[in-house]
Amino acid sequence: MRKGILEELNKSSVTVTDIANQSWCEYKVYLSCTQKEEQTKAMRIGETIHANLQKEVYKELTVEPVTYPDIFYKNAYENIMTMNSIVEGGKGRELKIEGDIDGFTIRGKIDELLVENGETIIVENKTTLKESGGHNDTMHEMHSVQAMVYRLMFKDILDKRYTFKRYYDANGVGRMKLSPTFIHGLKEIGIRDDMINIGAICLSMFESYQKLPKISDTLIIRYLNRMSREVVEEVRIKYDAAWLKKILDRDFEFWNKNRGPEPVSKEESWRCRSCYFMKIRKCQFGISYLG
Ligand code: SF4
Repeated sequence: MRKGILEELNKSSVTVTDIANQSWCEYKVYLSCTQKEEQTKAMRIGETIHANLQKEVYKELTVEPVTYPDIFYKNAYENIMTMNSIVEGGKGRELKIEGDIDGFTIRGKIDELLVENGETIIVENKTTLKESGGHNDTMHEMHSVQAMVYRLMFKDILDKRYTFKRYYDANGVGRMKLSPTFIHGLKEIGIRDDMINIGAICLSMFESYQKLPKISDTLIIRYLNRMSREVVEEVRIKYDAAWLKKILDRDFEFWNKNRGPEPVSKEESWRCRSCYFMKIRKCQFGISYLG
């Protein structure tokens, strides 16, 4: 597993959101890894909308985790429930996914998976203040990168380029032990003894991926108005492997430490106006552009 700049940033993996955000400002991604960004009202509303959407179809494991291995188990269990919902009801939300790009562990959470015409479609839900037409070109690139990276990771699992063994080793599953309290809770809700085991639940999760309908080349980016929560636009794009590869090749030069993080150019400095690191005067580039 490659570390590149991750050790310096005190991170164990690259997130899909990090990769998407590189299309907005890579230097901002770098700063966000070392200094927590203050949550804005828009972010809080976005989180609430996602949480409400999740509740509509998500089946939560009702046993409270105590330790990190318990949380790891809970995530795998809930992923299996989500995939069962997709197979049985044609829809699932908040699927946590892990993969590998260029030797780095990549983690993310897919907003929604829909079955349409016998294929599984990845959907990204985004919030906007607009009442119609939810994006500009830069936003559209970010959201397209995000949806396409999920599609890439998903296909890697289905085609066994990202395997259970890789997942097991990368996360040290063999060393994880469930807490006695959590085991007791799992027994109480009737989980079979042979499934009260982190390796077994993770293997079952990988098997569940294979039961899903074929993954589609179509990806949906859905824009929801932040106030009304109504869908204002739904954009359908096609997975474009060559376009994505070009972007990822460039992005991973940064994660591989082959070059430093790049700020936005002077022409794009309008993006600095809404930037938290400009607001707290922590970005020398934003200050040089906007004063
Ligand atoms: S102020 Fe501008 S250049 Fe600096 S991190 Fe923010 S968006 Fe990037």
